[in-house]
Amino acid sequence: MAVQGKVDMLSILRDELAYEGGAASHVFVVLGASGDLAKKKIYPTLWWLFRDGLLPPKTYFIGYSRSKLTVDDIKKKTLPFMKVKNGEEQKVEQFFKINEYIAGSYDSPGDFSKLNKAIEQKGSCNRLFYLALPPTVYESVTLNLKATCMSKSDKWTRVIVEKPFGKDLESSNRLSNHLSALFKEEELYRIDHYLGKEMVQNLMVLRFANRIFSPVWNRDGIASVVISFKEPFGTQGRGGYFDDFGIIRDVMQNHLMQILTLVAMEKPPTTNAEDIRNEKVKVLKSIQPVDIKDTVLGQYVGKPGGKGDEAQGYLDDPTVPKGSVTPTFATAVLSVKMRDGMVYLLYLDVEKATLNERKAEVRIQFKDVAGDIFPDGRSDELYEAWRIFTPLLNKIETEKPKPITYVYGSRRPKESDEFMADRDFKYT
Ligand code: NDP
Repeated sequence: MAVQGKVDMLSILRDELAYEGGAASHVFVVLGASGDLAKKKIYPTLWWLFRDGLLPPKTYFIGYSRSKLTVDDIKKKTLPFMKVKNGEEQKVEQFFKINEYIAGSYDSPGDFSKLNKAIEQKGSCNRLFYLALPPTVYESVTLNLKATCMSKSDKWTRVIVEKPFGKDLESSNRLSNHLSALFKEEELYRIDHYLGKEMVQNLMVLRFANRIFSPVWNRDGIASVVISFKEPFGTQGRGGYFDDFGIIRDVMQNHLMQILTLVAMEKPPTTNAEDIRNEKVKVLKSIQPVDIKDTVLGQYVGKPGGKGDEAQGYLDDPTVPKGSVTPTFATAVLSVKMRDGMVYLLYLDVEKATLNERKAEVRIQFKDVAGDIFPDGRSDELYEAWRIFTPLLNKIETEKPKPITYVYGSRRPKESDEFMADRDFKYT
């Protein structure tokens, strides 16, 4: 214990000395610092990187959003998500000492000048801007960053954009064109933080570095693939934001399609990002747009006699527009035509407020054995993934089909099971 304490003190002292004098090396700006993503994911991740000594020395952080906050307010919001262990209290204090917060709007050049001045005060440094913001303000924010906040001389600037990327094919294209007119491709990162998850990284290794699965990962070996995402809670008062997007845009069109491409793609020649992307795009190009008859859409209602959250149906959330038909549940079956000319069926399933479990899962059912012993530009991917879902989303928005209802906390709607059974899916 005593030795551990001594080591911690030394590392704290070392870090403090590292921040004395001289210019910053990097400044990381969180735009939308008052928001949900910032408090739950971005600040905690920055803290873990700082705690584990994984950041370049002299990296500073600036939070920016419209709310009038202080670093102390940010600290209070984010501490519950930071998993601070005993003995790390001083290090956390040190982390917040290298944080700053600036209140400003997303369309005021004057406010972005204020932000730029704050960065300049840290000296000549590399700059990263993380847009933890609703996509509606991406355009004005990136215009202001380009006009006012780019680093000068030999230092670089990076702009990180969160998914969902656009609302449909047209808005995704518009945003792509807008961003590529402002920034070079290497300055731009489109993040799907979901893909950082170990499960997804392991999928590549499981498929391509494994003598057991590689030979049977084909139509002869695999009976069906179901990719599902479930969360046991509803909108929790954030239904206003959710209603604008719905479960298909929020999870299916982006996160699940990324996983689908990793499940269905051919082996890339190398593990370089470009080679992997090319294989993923080939899969997306082979998928027809989803027809509404190939989906089951649902919306949860409150549990009769339930307490707290479970008593609340989607339409009881005061931030959800009255009579909304936005789905909170969707099952879709996609047919993928592969190089061998064969068509494979893949099921995508997204569920909000269903049975008490939170999981993201890829379920591969292998076929029974007889005898029964057992580009071109990154935005290609965006284009193809939107092409597959935009006709369905348009149909839902224009025809407003009423989703079937399911009770908060229940198992998935039986209609979804019947739908999959009708398409030869056998649950084993
Ligand atoms: P929030 O709704 O919490 O918005 C972030 C901040 O943006 C708010 O604190 C608010 O700050 C400002 N803001 C909110 N609505 C508007 C608006 N209509 N116009 C201008 N400013 C607004 O979003 P999240 O933090 O949840 O998400 C940020 C981005 O990350 C989104 O693109 C989202 O889709 C994506 N994302 C989020 C996930 C999450 O876990 N939360 C998961 C996956 C992706 P202020 O009023 O102080 O300016």
